[in-house]
Amino acid sequence: MSSPQSAVPVAQIGVTGLAVMGANLARNLARKGFTVAVHNRSPQRARQLLADHGHEGAFVPAEALTDFVASLQRPRAIIVMVQAGAATDAVIDQLTPLLDADDIIIDCGNAHYADTRRREETLRGLGLRFVGCGVSGGEEGALTGPSIMPGGAAEAYATLGPILEKIAARVDGQPCVAHVGSDGAGHFVKMVHNGIEYADMQLIAEAYDLLREGLWASPKQIAQIFRQWNTGELNSFLVEIAADVLEHTDAATGRPFVDIVADIAAQKGTGRWTVQSALDLNVPITGIAEATFARALSGSVDQRRAAADAFAHAGGGHALTVSDADLFVEDVRRALYASKVVAYAQGFDQIDAGSQRYGWKIDRGQVARLWRGGCIIRARFLDHIAAAYTADPQLPTLLVDPYFATAVADGAPSWRRVVSEAVWAGVPTPAFSSSLAYFDGLRRDRLPAALIQGLRDHFGAHTYRRVDRPGSFHTRWSGDRGEAAA
Ligand code: NAP
Repeated sequence: MSSPQSAVPVAQIGVTGLAVMGANLARNLARKGFTVAVHNRSPQRARQLLADHGHEGAFVPAEALTDFVASLQRPRAIIVMVQAGAATDAVIDQLTPLLDADDIIIDCGNAHYADTRRREETLRGLGLRFVGCGVSGGEEGALTGPSIMPGGAAEAYATLGPILEKIAARVDGQPCVAHVGSDGAGHFVKMVHNGIEYADMQLIAEAYDLLREGLWASPKQIAQIFRQWNTGELNSFLVEIAADVLEHTDAATGRPFVDIVADIAAQKGTGRWTVQSALDLNVPITGIAEATFARALSGSVDQRRAAADAFAHAGGGHALTVSDADLFVEDVRRALYASKVVAYAQGFDQIDAGSQRYGWKIDRGQVARLWRGGCIIRARFLDHIAAAYTADPQLPTLLVDPYFATAVADGAPSWRRVVSEAVWAGVPTPAFSSSLAYFDGLRRDRLPAALIQGLRDHFGAHTYRRVDRPGSFHTRWSGDRGEAAA
């Protein structure tokens, strides 16, 4: 039942910003029995929400922000679901003077975690509580149950938790929401989630490309292979919808949909943020980085055209020659799984590094559990990740957890065959290849980094450490080449 505009504080929670995500979150809350105050800068969106969905629950619409705030029970809990960046600051600035101590602003947009840290500190200074909250699942998830990653103060979660737990996705009876850490922790975890999403999609795309090149398979045939994969350890939302996309036929031309879509992958920027943050934290997230750069390369249309012309009859490479189709499909499947394990291992390393840098104390097992439902990267193997970090919260890398160590070691021969054949045939597999290189780098006894240290000491007297005794040393490269302790 919709209610008329009211200044009586009857609403348990408010949502301002009623574009697709905000409107669906508000509907989700109302369907779960909450009385929801709704507001949007342009009042038409609130009117439309009430006209189309007012029957779904108790909405309290307001056209003026003052009425919206006045319609909320205290301490007020207000979800802001507007464009990230300046719009979010503008809405917070308008709300702040209208609020009282202990009221909570929950930013569910895709904010950069550094902005969230700044906003949280400012609002804390004003006696207000600010929760930067990652939400994943797109518009469908917002309506039916997203994965929710709230940061901010733990006591704010004590108030908010019971509400968020009602609207979140559920897996095995558990809600996909939990307090992940203070200030910007929620948006940081959401950022890494999106970075992993980039890597996951790039890996699926590379697998598709290899199957198409190697088997001359049609998109529909590859969809069948993906559907088969989706019954096993690769089971995930992204593999499932990849099959949907590959199966789809373009109505206008009768051609496979995937052949009429321009091969230029766009991005809204969370992949870039993830890579930028990883560089700052010194964490090698090569899978996510390659996926982000692969999108950039896809968009370099003029360069691609020039290179395609220049190397039409040069540059090497030949058709993929597959003598055993079943073996090749299984090799690609195993290579995809191993690469995916690497991408997730790297993402969880970044979460750990961020947690240490900012003192968030993020529980990686808990994060894996939040991602099991509602979100875009939901996948069966997150159960194993949750189990790995629960069994050993200090796990140095996911790759050495017994389950994943076995999975990657068993898949390694396939992984190597696929990457070698792709390189030989000139089929670009940046994420498959870089994940394998990372794996080999990580497990290598000695790396050529020793030579890099020698070079750095030679040209810049940057010093080096020795393997046989403690301390830092410098060799007099332009003198007698004797060594001195630095
Ligand atoms: P959006 O297109 O990102 O934002 C539109 C909303 O922002 C409208 O309600 C608009 O109000 C409001 N807005 C913009 N500038 C404003 C300002 N200066 N003051 C007040 N309101 C302003 O909408 P969306 O796609 O629903 O996404 C909302 C947030 O959720 C974003 O931060 C987005 O990144 C995040 N998110 C989106 C998804 C997704 O799948 N789409 C998933 C997770 C998170 P008007 O109607 O008045 O223009």
